[in-house]
Amino acid sequence: MKNICLLGSTGSIGTQTLDVVAKHPDELRCVALAVRRSVGTALAQARQFGVHQVAVADELAANSPEAQELRAWCEAGGGFLRFGAQAVEELCLLPDVDVVVNALVGAAGLRASYLTLEAGRVLALANKESLVVGGDLLMPLAARLNGLRGDNGALMPIDSEHGAIYQCLLGEDMAEVTKLWVTASGGPFRGRTREQLTGITPAQALAHPTWNMGAKISIDSSTLMNKGLEVIEAHHLFSMPYEKIEVVVQPQSAIHSMVEFSDGSVKAHLGTTDMRIPIQFALSYPQRWEAPVAPLDFRTLGTLEFAAPDTDTFRCLALARQAGEIGGTLPCVMNAANEVAVAAFLAEQLPYLGIAECVEDAMEALGSQPVESLDQLAAIDAASRARARQFVAGQ
Ligand code: MG
Repeated sequence: MKNICLLGSTGSIGTQTLDVVAKHPDELRCVALAVRRSVGTALAQARQFGVHQVAVADELAANSPEAQELRAWCEAGGGFLRFGAQAVEELCLLPDVDVVVNALVGAAGLRASYLTLEAGRVLALANKESLVVGGDLLMPLAARLNGLRGDNGALMPIDSEHGAIYQCLLGEDMAEVTKLWVTASGGPFRGRTREQLTGITPAQALAHPTWNMGAKISIDSSTLMNKGLEVIEAHHLFSMPYEKIEVVVQPQSAIHSMVEFSDGSVKAHLGTTDMRIPIQFALSYPQRWEAPVAPLDFRTLGTLEFAAPDTDTFRCLALARQAGEIGGTLPCVMNAANEVAVAAFLAEQLPYLGIAECVEDAMEALGSQPVESLDQLAAIDAASRARARQFVAGQ
């Protein structure tokens, strides 16, 4: 039995994680959960899954009638209801937690990832920004924990591409890997020119063709920033130099990523486009359990297409790669500016093509320095957000 602390339980990854828990009650138990502010949904989840340790990030949510009800439920079960960002992070340190599923949105997830690995718990990571911003701090902690565990299971990626690469690498010698092929759907605007993207609205950008996801990641997928973040994530997770990480557009999203070896062999990971498969693998490793959804039927799959990404139109991918290659604190700058730009676009304060312009402006203004600490990254994150807000205000 693995005891799970689920951070971000009401989002897309959070609810699908609970689906996996419900399907495998003999293997998984949710013992703690955290939400941003959806107290009512947290209450329903806590009752359904018998969870009595709950944190809510937004302190303003503390006074609602539902919060009173949730507190009563938690305390009746010997647990607690706490509020604030620190309360969310402290859930990772509860004595009965084996695995933390970090499905928080944005750089706010980094501290929880750090605390989890530092405390010697398994980190099942859907919050890719943790690695993008703090990979230099997280990976040494993961390596130390892998050493103690005697396997490679300290940091399990929940991102479908990285879960795919992880599985392709099982049993392989990293010295024989010549390339990681990270697949991209291309998003809803694949094939369009820059001119055709000038008037894009949030509703258009939120309609992803193959994956059903939250707002932030859906916008990132449409700009290909998501793929840029994933390139940086792959660099850290698999200690792979950037020149060996290639992005290829695979519009059907049936191939979740590929690994090429020195003898020219390529291993691909395929599966139904449903996040419950990579979520379950991250939680079942080193075992495999019964499929959480219907497997792929190759007789009805049809054609698989491949194409190079258009980085002139989708500049966020090129900017993210550039940030990763320069390294240090530049990915932190890039990510923070992107978070502000995406929020501004969703609030109709920034045009669609302004997202990349805002990111580029912050990267040029703030530059890079070596990564030293969480506090340093938090300060740089704040400086980049301030710069990005200035950019948005000037639009
Ligand atoms: Mg992905």
